[in-house]
Amino acid sequence: MRILITGGAGFIGSHLAEHLLGKGDHVTVVDDFSTGRMENIHGLMSNPRFTLVRDTILNEKLMHILIEKCDLIYHLAAAVGVKLIIEKPVHTISTNIAGTEVMLDIANKFNRKIIIMSSSEVYGKNVRVPFCENDDRLMGATIYSRWSYACSKAIDEFLGLAYHRQYGLPVIIVRLFNTVGPRQVGQYGMVIPRFVQQALAGETITVYGDGMQSRCFTYVSDVVGALVALMQSDKAVGEVFNIGSQEEITIIDLARKIKSKTGSSSPIEKIPYSQAYEKGFDDMLRRVPSIEKIHNAIGYTPKYSLDQILDSVIDYYRSIGGR
Ligand code: UDP
Repeated sequence: MRILITGGAGFIGSHLAEHLLGKGDHVTVVDDFSTGRMENIHGLMSNPRFTLVRDTILNEKLMHILIEKCDLIYHLAAAVGVKLIIEKPVHTISTNIAGTEVMLDIANKFNRKIIIMSSSEVYGKNVRVPFCENDDRLMGATIYSRWSYACSKAIDEFLGLAYHRQYGLPVIIVRLFNTVGPRQVGQYGMVIPRFVQQALAGETITVYGDGMQSRCFTYVSDVVGALVALMQSDKAVGEVFNIGSQEEITIIDLARKIKSKTGSSSPIEKIPYSQAYEKGFDDMLRRVPSIEKIHNAIGYTPKYSLDQILDSVIDYYRSIGGR
């Protein structure tokens, strides 16, 4: 198969590209390297079935050419990371909405099957866990940039489902829950790479708020396996799926676990949200996915525990010298 991955030089995209090349597919990655990195795909460059196109998905002429030449599309290109979203709110909204619009419009011209990455952020501040795909969403006020990401992803979902309903385009929507693994960087805010880097460097481990907020972390290869299986499933078309793990941990316990696993002497410090992000920042207190729907569709259950995930991320950061 000829596969197009937008955002394929990013953390998840590069793992997906590697997996698909391993299966014998031809993979074209389009990435503008805003958050993607050459190091992520360095090992793929010599593969004759791999093509890298360095450009933005907003380049419609180019996307026309790339989409016409492919069979299937994984659309991962997006502005991500809470820190980046707050620092660059205009970039976030336009990349996420206009980018997906371009992809859907052209995919529709050539009737190409497309998976669109959405996010657990779309559930917002809902505290009724686990989150089911058809649950109501509870968004914060528009004065807080954080919610622009959730809303931009929700618009992507609406658009994808609309193309499916109105034109019969084969679209699948997935909501990712805190995907982690080697190659993820901490600079855009993601907590596990940040804590691991801080712990290995002997720096203060920065827990935001009181640390009682919790998350469930999913290993990147579980996500990649789920994406590929959904792409192959006819039943998945026109549907929305959570992809995540149900092993919940509070952020303060996560900090303690990483400190102990790395044998670090780093102090753990609580930092108010207003100092870490923006004044009035709203966090999501709990975020646990229901994985019943995806389990019923493709037999998905996450294979990696949090301990295995942390060991892998710690090994990765040690192998590259802690940074
Ligand atoms: N967090 C933290 N310290 C950091 C980075 C993040 O305490 O240095 C917290 C953050 O406030 C959130 C959780 O860790 O409650 C997960 O943050 P991340 O940005 O990784 O993902 P989110 O689930 O917020 O999208």
